[in-house]
Amino acid sequence: MVAALAVENLSKVYGNGFEALKGITLEVQKGDFFALLGPNGAGKSTTLGIISGLVQKTAGNAYVMGHDVNGDAFDARRSLGVVPQEFNFNQFEKVYDIVVTQAGYFGLRPAEAKANAEELLKALDLWDKRDTPSRMLSGGMKRRLMIARALVHKPDVLILDEPTAGVDIELRRSMWEFMEELNRKGTTIILTTHYLEEAEQLCRNIAIINKGEIVQCTSKRELLSQLTTETFVFDLCEPVPEGFALEEFECAIPAEDTLEVTVEKGQSINRIFSLLTEKNLEVRSMRTKSNRLEELFVNLVRESNS
Ligand code: ADP
Repeated sequence: MVAALAVENLSKVYGNGFEALKGITLEVQKGDFFALLGPNGAGKSTTLGIISGLVQKTAGNAYVMGHDVNGDAFDARRSLGVVPQEFNFNQFEKVYDIVVTQAGYFGLRPAEAKANAEELLKALDLWDKRDTPSRMLSGGMKRRLMIARALVHKPDVLILDEPTAGVDIELRRSMWEFMEELNRKGTTIILTTHYLEEAEQLCRNIAIINKGEIVQCTSKRELLSQLTTETFVFDLCEPVPEGFALEEFECAIPAEDTLEVTVEKGQSINRIFSLLTEKNLEVRSMRTKSNRLEELFVNLVRESNS
């Protein structure tokens, strides 16, 4: 079966001699919801740039739905919708026109372009703004406009570079719902994000890139199963007694009524509650100290740097 995206030994040396990609190989299957994660400067935008035809590769190959991004550029681009980080539409053009004009680049007939634009603007809650010049939109609306424009030719693969950067929580949630629905209907989605919670929530497969190399490429489930410990924060109804210890668990007391307990793989969280109950300590609330993927990500990047 043809992969939605295939990248083989891709490398990029910029004009100043900097090697941003050191021969990466990656495959994203059709229908996947895939995250490309990495610290700043890792090579994410360079990779996405080569795939979308904006950056010239130095060596290797990249295919979108089997189309070579260089040899078969039109079909590769026709199969792809790209939402870059920066707003890059004409600030004076109206919302509706921006979306319809984009469809024209891919050769859609006017009737089809208009129908697709209407459907997308409605789905993204921008229909009321269709006659508004884009510069008058809020930041969140501009971001949704970028998505509508990227999807107007109904591409098989959608690439989003930091789709929810700077977006408030409510809008982020509604964008997640939109992306999940799109993916359910068959669009392959590839995203980069700084919000690891976003990757953990949405994505099935994840690649971690650092210094131009792939550090890990696996399923989210497999990645999370590598976590050997997890830290939970318990807010108690009363101060933690002096000299407190929690038998086999490692714990810290960051505030007088807060307990941080590190749980190793195989240890039971029930046991913590039993011990606390035995000690007459009541728990007001409990949460994980950090996002699980975040803990792994930090460790993997640290290891690959050393
Ligand atoms: P990311 O998207 O993961 O933050 P980028 O792909 O933007 O990373 O950048 C990877 C590396 O390549 C960085 O060290 C960056 O400084 C460098 N780089 C990016 N664009 C250029 C360029 N046009 N010329 C030289 N170096 C560049």
